[in-house]
Amino acid sequence: MRNVAGFVKYNAGLTLSVDFLARDDEAFMREALRLAQKAGAAKEVPVGAVITRDGRIVGRGYNQVELLKDATAHAEILAITQASAALGDWRLTECELFVTKEPCPMCAGAAVHARLKRVIFGCPDARAGAAGSLINLLQMPGLNHRCDVRSGLLAEECASLLRSFFAQRRRADQGSEAATRNDISSAAD
Ligand SMILES: [Zn+2]
Repeated sequence: MRNVAGFVKYNAGLTLSVDFLARDDEAFMREALRLAQKAGAAKEVPVGAVITRDGRIVGRGYNQVELLKDATAHAEILAITQASAALGDWRLTECELFVTKEPCPMCAGAAVHARLKRVIFGCPDARAGAAGSLINLLQMPGLNHRCDVRSGLLAEECASLLRSFFAQRRRADQGSEAATRNDISSAAD
């Protein structure tokens, strides 16, 4: 009888923990989104990333390519570096990476090198995504590590951040082209 009750209790606990896991995923993606907004406010392509271990954040990053003038300063790389420093280990075997956009080949490669347990991303990147869109480096047969992947979490919010950033940048580019034309025509006056 006790065994049966134990089994029921075990099952109930399992259901609960799966539910908690799903809600935690969303909470961590919301933090990654907050970081992506920070990138956007600094005129960087708005991508944010968070690394967790045992449900705690151990690394954060957002795109800083322009500020650092460094092509490798993607959100995921900065978050991996921070998590490795925090944990004192380059192996992030028990860690999960939350990132608002599908990782590029460089970041997916770094995720494999860092042995991340799981990668959760928001919107896909059809052009350059390396978690299944262009190529799936996170689960590449032949590499020494494969990450579990969850895609599409808060995808619409993540994508709309990128869409409005690029739309705004196009408007600014058109605006500065118009200003240049004005300068040229007033110089001709
Ligand atoms: Zn990247």
